[in-house]
Amino acid sequence: MPIIVMKFGGSCLNDKDSFNKILNITNIYEKVKKVYVVSALTGITDLLLKTANMLEKDKDTDNNIALIEKRHIDIIEQIFTEDSEHYIKARDWIDDRLSELEDTFADIKEFGLEPYYKDFVLSFGEILSTYILDQFLLSNEIDSVYIPANRLIITNDEFNNAYPLYDLTNSRIKRMLVPLLENPNKNTIVCLTGFIGRNKIGYITTLGRGGSDYTATIIARALYDIGNDKNIRVILWKNVDGLLAINPKFVPNSSLIKNLDYNEAKHIASFGAKILHPKCLEAIEKDKIPLEIRNFEKPLEKSFTQISEITDKEHIKGISAVEFVTIITIISGSMVDIPGVLAKIFRVMSKNRISVSLVAQSSSEISTSFIISELDSERAIAALKSSKFFSEFFKIKWEHVSVINITGLKILETRTKVEIFNALDKKNIQVKAISQSHDELNLSIVIERAKLEDAIKIIHDDLYKEFEGPN
Ligand code: ASP
Ligand code: MG
Repeated sequence: MPIIVMKFGGSCLNDKDSFNKILNITNIYEKVKKVYVVSALTGITDLLLKTANMLEKDKDTDNNIALIEKRHIDIIEQIFTEDSEHYIKARDWIDDRLSELEDTFADIKEFGLEPYYKDFVLSFGEILSTYILDQFLLSNEIDSVYIPANRLIITNDEFNNAYPLYDLTNSRIKRMLVPLLENPNKNTIVCLTGFIGRNKIGYITTLGRGGSDYTATIIARALYDIGNDKNIRVILWKNVDGLLAINPKFVPNSSLIKNLDYNEAKHIASFGAKILHPKCLEAIEKDKIPLEIRNFEKPLEKSFTQISEITDKEHIKGISAVEFVTIITIISGSMVDIPGVLAKIFRVMSKNRISVSLVAQSSSEISTSFIISELDSERAIAALKSSKFFSEFFKIKWEHVSVINITGLKILETRTKVEIFNALDKKNIQVKAISQSHDELNLSIVIERAKLEDAIKIIHDDLYKEFEGPN
């Protein structure tokens, strides 16, 4: 039987109606083996983080815990008959977990918010929501089992942004998940917490914000690598139809991207499309596991986004924007041909844990520009200035800007680039830097922030024939 790993985000767990929609989806996919990866209720992860960050006032902490409790109790009161077996189990679960959370907050007050504590606190959102879904399925006579993902996903020690150790994860999945899914006599749904894992010594880690998508793909990959059934798919249920070619904030009624390959999807996901966690593509690309992004409100809808090996080479796939970035330029006439300048720049950034997203250097090597998040800009500039090497020999310039990314094989054609630059020229939009790596199907253009919307609109309007048609 095929296996589908489905991820239900917070917006799929709002109220009774949403839980009934999950039942409906369960019926639609009756004849497949299912793993349900579940996110926290909407806003709960933020609230947990906020509380952990400000524990000075006991009253606020108590209020926040009460609010978290209320959100979950509201749900269970809607979806279970009061005092039924599953209602009581869910209620006890909430009580027990929240008293654990309270103890953890007390520890943090005493010892400080170590990275480990932060991940432990953040894990509560998924641990609460997933157990509730599991009990809900059971109360509807659907065979289900709850597994916290820290039993299955073993990660490195990078708290808040952990990376799975696949070998260790695979052997756990082989031991604990495969036998459940490959049991021919039962069709048990596995309800698995998204977002969390554990390191080798047992501390809970998290996979980065929005990491439940990543959980779904890690599980799919592990099942593919070690299970007998290679017919595996991932479905991410979202509150949108799929990936749109352009954020509707800039161009309303933009078309849906129906097919894109892993590489295209990586570009689109890492540049602004908050719909998809960029790391999840890394997990499924190796085995070519297809991933679908579907609208939770319309489970039978024929139009959705599929990421697989299949793509349509004729089109520009999408335009995405990163609005709040800073371009830093390092200039010197005297350092041409001296090896190691770039290495030094990147060392300064990496030491300060600042990620660089775009680099441009002309062959004359007189100046190098690179892009970082605006949030990191003050630190980056201070670090460069405090480096003797850079302050002595270089001029450092910076500006807050935006980046537009245009993705799709079409971008490899020079003619397409001509059309893009013509479009920008029409609106007098100055291009401050550009970058496209060799054979890469993505062109990044740095422009003045105030012109961002105009730039996206004019590129879309002038090149509309190059996009996939209306849905
Ligand atoms: N609850 C986590 C977050 O909000 C993970 C997720 O929703 O995917 O980041
Ligand atoms: Mg979330």
